[in-house]
Amino acid sequence: MGTQHEMTLAELLRRFPDDTAAERWFEAQRWPQGRFCPDCGSTNTAVVKTRRPMPYRCRDCRAHFSVRKGTTADSSA
Ligand SMILES: [Zn+2]
Repeated sequence: MGTQHEMTLAELLRRFPDDTAAERWFEAQRWPQGRFCPDCGSTNTAVVKTRRPMPYRCRDCRAHFSVRKGTTADSSA
């Protein structure tokens, strides 16, 4: 096993100039067992096709969320 290198957001964006690729990477790091709602923890979530106001929606508490919500990368906090 190699040493884990913690990437900063800037490094991440350099590595993934495409925003969707960066988001997929984020999701794999944050949700290794699958996407879940950051508000209630439910895995019963849906993709919002228009991505507005957020790319995902929780079917249980109806909150909208993105992979960045509740993380240090969330600039709207
Ligand atoms: Zn929820």
